[in-house]
Amino acid sequence: MGIFFRFKHPNMGSVFLLKVRICFMPPQLTSTARFLCTKDIKPNLGGRQVDRNSTGQTRIANRNNRQVTESGTSSNSKKLWQNSYPKSVFAAGTAKRTAELMRQKAPPVSEEEEQQGGEDGCRTATRPGKLQAPERPLPPAEWKKLKESFGNPERFDIRMMSTLIASGSELNIAKSLLSFVAVEVGTLSYELLLRYLKLCESGGHDDEVFDVYRIMRGSFPSLDTGASSLFIKSFSRTARWKEAIEILQEVKKVFTPSPRNYGDVIAASVHHRDATTAWDLYDELIEKGLSPHQETWDVLFTGVKQIEGEKEMAVMSESEQHEKLLGILMYMRNNQIYPQQTVVNRIKNWFESLNDEKWTADWSSVTPKGLCSRCGSELESIQLSAEEYQELKDRVMADIIQGQDVFNKTTPEELERFKVFVKRKPAFDVVIDGLNVANTNKDKSKQSETLLTVVSELERQGLNVLVLGRKHMLRPSRSWDRHNMSLIQQKAHCFFTDNISEDDPFLLYATLHSGNHCRFVSRDLMRDHKACLPGGATRRLFFKWQRGHQLVVVGYVAPGRRVRFQSIPSFDTIVQSTADSWHIPYDDTEDRSTYEVPQQWLCLTKNK
Ligand SMILES: [Zn+2]
Repeated sequence: MGIFFRFKHPNMGSVFLLKVRICFMPPQLTSTARFLCTKDIKPNLGGRQVDRNSTGQTRIANRNNRQVTESGTSSNSKKLWQNSYPKSVFAAGTAKRTAELMRQKAPPVSEEEEQQGGEDGCRTATRPGKLQAPERPLPPAEWKKLKESFGNPERFDIRMMSTLIASGSELNIAKSLLSFVAVEVGTLSYELLLRYLKLCESGGHDDEVFDVYRIMRGSFPSLDTGASSLFIKSFSRTARWKEAIEILQEVKKVFTPSPRNYGDVIAASVHHRDATTAWDLYDELIEKGLSPHQETWDVLFTGVKQIEGEKEMAVMSESEQHEKLLGILMYMRNNQIYPQQTVVNRIKNWFESLNDEKWTADWSSVTPKGLCSRCGSELESIQLSAEEYQELKDRVMADIIQGQDVFNKTTPEELERFKVFVKRKPAFDVVIDGLNVANTNKDKSKQSETLLTVVSELERQGLNVLVLGRKHMLRPSRSWDRHNMSLIQQKAHCFFTDNISEDDPFLLYATLHSGNHCRFVSRDLMRDHKACLPGGATRRLFFKWQRGHQLVVVGYVAPGRRVRFQSIPSFDTIVQSTADSWHIPYDDTEDRSTYEVPQQWLCLTKNK
């Protein structure tokens, strides 16, 4: 009866650890395992613990599947297993049945979910009267008592494991829970193992992660994204990091890995000085249209020097890697991304450490006239050239205004009606996203007043104003005062779309149609539309146009008082370079709003 009465050993802690480790060996690998599996099992308990919501989570096929199937379907081996290890966690039949059930029913445990507290974990841990984690490992009998004291709740094992994760419990406690479940039920569900895996991963218990890996590989036909990600993360930080690449390759066959998955393996490759693999994976990540995490850039800028130190490993030449790193800076430029403080530090160190080029690096800011306060060079203007403007306008009209996605949110008739409306009016100086501006006041009863105040300010400046609104704004209500709305229509041109219509295409059309001088008022960033634009160059133009044309109201809008808008700088806040300089704006704050740009720069100048 092996493991189970050995729990009563007085020196439970250490002995216990050993036992569970052994218990996780698949039976094919050790004869010891037969002692570790209970033979006295109620046949119908295996499925009870997997009886909840389905998510349709995609899973990757298990490469050891064949092995499992062989033992599961071959009548001889099946019989053998059933005779020797009836319904134990390691019995092939059990594994297959469980796997079948799990595939249909297991909710995913993603890293994100666990970070947010887990589906049960946080709630059970924080609500009084709910499950509480024991402070030490318990023998099965005590677990049973504990479970009964909670009234034998459903999915006790899963919820308790979540509680252990949420309360950062010792691994031994989790192991004792697994043993209890193995005694009581005779099998460990995929879902339970997944949570246990999460606990092992977050605690850095790599050996246990390997154990779970072996079990899951041997017992379940496929792994979900949650387990795959945890394995990739864990393996990446060990000597078995190359297996993380294999898992990633398998993940790729079924779904797109996350930037984090790539980041983990890239970090491992850099750490093990395999520059070729690191950059191959990085290129692949970019080709898939994923956005790399800042940590990945951090590691690439850090690691390259170590790689260069080991010439025999440097399949990739120094200059090749040099070009690749500059490519990261260009990627930031094209996607309007600002490196965080840690990454910009790495970039600075990297430039300073170059042997064949001498660079001077300084922290800097930019004067209102657009000059770098360190080197005095002039930064790129925020203004688009006539050619750039035309190119952007053509692309937006073709890909956003006429593109497929617009018609999900508006009708061709309405858009045509709007185009005719715009053509009949003189070119606008400013286009206001009416709903967006009104919504900046959280007080519903002040919404039309806020919009009126902003419109009045722009009218006072002698500007030709267009207000885009929705038809419901014309129906008098607490938010939309009849008198205010009437004044707005006297001071500005107004166009009211159907209530379900999306404002952005109208705003883009009217602003671009009016010419390069026309600006718009909105806090929105129109991220979705930028994604519709093909190619980095067009997207970069769009960002630039947006930075130079978006007016954002600053502070509280009060009737009768002047409205202040955030000033639009004359220079472009974007990574930029010349033959002998780089200027890199970076994030030194966590709470920058999406419409704000960084104020801090890294100035890099090449010594002659
Ligand atoms: Zn400079």
